[in-house]
Amino acid sequence: MNRLLVVLLMISLLSINASAYGPRGHQLVGAIADQRLKQNHAIAVKVRALLDGLTLQRAATLPDEIKSWKCGTNPSGPNRIDRELQAFINANCGNKSSHTVFHYTDVPVAGNENYADGEIGRAEFDIVQMIPFCVRVLKGEVPETNNHAITKSIAVILLTHYLGDIHQPLHVGAEFFDGNAKPFHPTPANKGFEDQGGNKLTLFTFVNGKRVSAGKFHGYWDSQTVENAFGSTPNSKVAQRLAAKEPDEWKLTGGVETWAEQLANDLLPMAREAHERLQYKDIRIVPGEREITSGRADEKKQSGGTFYAIWASGIVKEEIHKGGWRLAALLEEALQ
Ligand SMILES: [Zn+2]
Repeated sequence: MNRLLVVLLMISLLSINASAYGPRGHQLVGAIADQRLKQNHAIAVKVRALLDGLTLQRAATLPDEIKSWKCGTNPSGPNRIDRELQAFINANCGNKSSHTVFHYTDVPVAGNENYADGEIGRAEFDIVQMIPFCVRVLKGEVPETNNHAITKSIAVILLTHYLGDIHQPLHVGAEFFDGNAKPFHPTPANKGFEDQGGNKLTLFTFVNGKRVSAGKFHGYWDSQTVENAFGSTPNSKVAQRLAAKEPDEWKLTGGVETWAEQLANDLLPMAREAHERLQYKDIRIVPGEREITSGRADEKKQSGGTFYAIWASGIVKEEIHKGGWRLAALLEEALQ
């Protein structure tokens, strides 16, 4: 391979989106829900009208795609959805309330906490808050002229994406390190240093008995696990199969506004195990910072246990399956 090709290949590998399930995971959640809603014509028609004919599979990746759009551009052009997306960006591009932070929450994985048990890592505009906000817009309880510029169409687009995100364990749980760079349970008095949902760590997993870099810990869960789970089977086939088979234990209880918190709590044990299977090395911290600078997360040697890659891809398979069914059910509840 010539040098230029190597450089180009490296750039393309590095630029894989490290925020939320990669495109494929999101597309699958949307595609399963598209299939499920074929059973409910009235809701499918409403969704199609709100999305100007886009499928949920297509809408699913828009909230990541717009991260590269400029804040403050005048919403114009012939496409209504594009204009509404631009208005949404313009209303949510401040430091604290940027739309880029709506995709996750960072509950500490140490200490067995549920979402409601503390404040560290949670935020006013995190995913557990934004999902019910979008639901209330769809129900007409929050006007479309709200401060976030979340119209009903934008609400469907965001929910389709966030339902994918919240089924990725590293979108609900994060590791925190103390001043000695050891993992610990943070307290309001000692918040420690966060790993940014695994974005600051490089994962090493076993391949043929040797630990090999699997790239960024967060990005691994976004993309590599999805490829490991579904391989070369086309999305349409995967979606058809998973939409036809009811997942175990996917149903949520109570009002649809409470589902996001239930989902976060449902995923937290997986987030904990995703970290407990690792040991940390070379954690770099800079006093005064909120996050670690970098570090290495090594798969622990297990005697007789499942390899990390196999365990993780099994989790992803189940969670994407449930995510698709739950997205369809959520839209049915919110749009009835
Ligand atoms: Zn996301």
